[in-house]
Amino acid sequence: MSKSIERGELLHEGKAKQVFHSSSPDHVWIHYKDDATAFNGVKKASIRDKGEVNARISAYLMERMSSAGIPTHMDTVVSVRDHVCTKVDIIPVEVVVRNVCAGSICRRFGLEQGKVLAEPMVEFFYKSDELNDPPMSDVHALQFGWAVEWELAYLRHAALKVNAVLQAFWDELGVTLVDFKIEFGRDKNGHILLADEITPDGSRLWEKGSNRSLDKDVFRKDLGDLGDTYRELFKRVFGHGLTEG
Ligand code: UDP
Repeated sequence: MSKSIERGELLHEGKAKQVFHSSSPDHVWIHYKDDATAFNGVKKASIRDKGEVNARISAYLMERMSSAGIPTHMDTVVSVRDHVCTKVDIIPVEVVVRNVCAGSICRRFGLEQGKVLAEPMVEFFYKSDELNDPPMSDVHALQFGWAVEWELAYLRHAALKVNAVLQAFWDELGVTLVDFKIEFGRDKNGHILLADEITPDGSRLWEKGSNRSLDKDVFRKDLGDLGDTYRELFKRVFGHGLTEG
């Protein structure tokens, strides 16, 4: 536990989070902002409560992953928007798991949105804002030194395990887990930890029956009020609103 860890200097400002140094050399302090961006930062807005909803859902789901035997970077929840996490070097591979076709896979292969996949599928994208996260495969990771063979095998294995846990979780709440993106990092010993976040910003979540989006597609596609959607999702997950319970 890291109760006494304090926030240090800003290390990195991302689109939805700030990462700070901390008083521990082995930990970072992550703060979730209300900023929403889409299309690689082209569309921007500030959405009240978004940071808190994402932070609380991510902390909760990371805990679930930990219980399922998937090591994560989460250490301590210090506030509703602030987490102390193990410091990792992020592997520059965005790992996407899909259960249902939507988004870029439909655009790339001309598939119909909503087509259910016979098996969950893992895809890799190179993490680069400048290049718009291009699709990649193992040969690129090996050739360019982004990850070694056992690491890629682990990413796939862990991602499918995360998917199984998340799919069961959302299913019970009446939500279809269409797809999601996760990231992994190496700690100082070279162990791979599930890092970054598990949030509706990086997932497609469709209400069963209506197929209504309960995720950041509401913002990307102007489908409604993202703040209202996220507050509603929070209530579905925790059984109460942000300021209750
Ligand atoms: N995703 C993400 N960050 C990215 C790209 C994708 O979190 O930079 C998530 C996205 O929210 C979705 C999943 O990864 O849940 C698959 O996204 P896709 O490849 O379909 O790309 P998109 O349609 O979002 O451009």
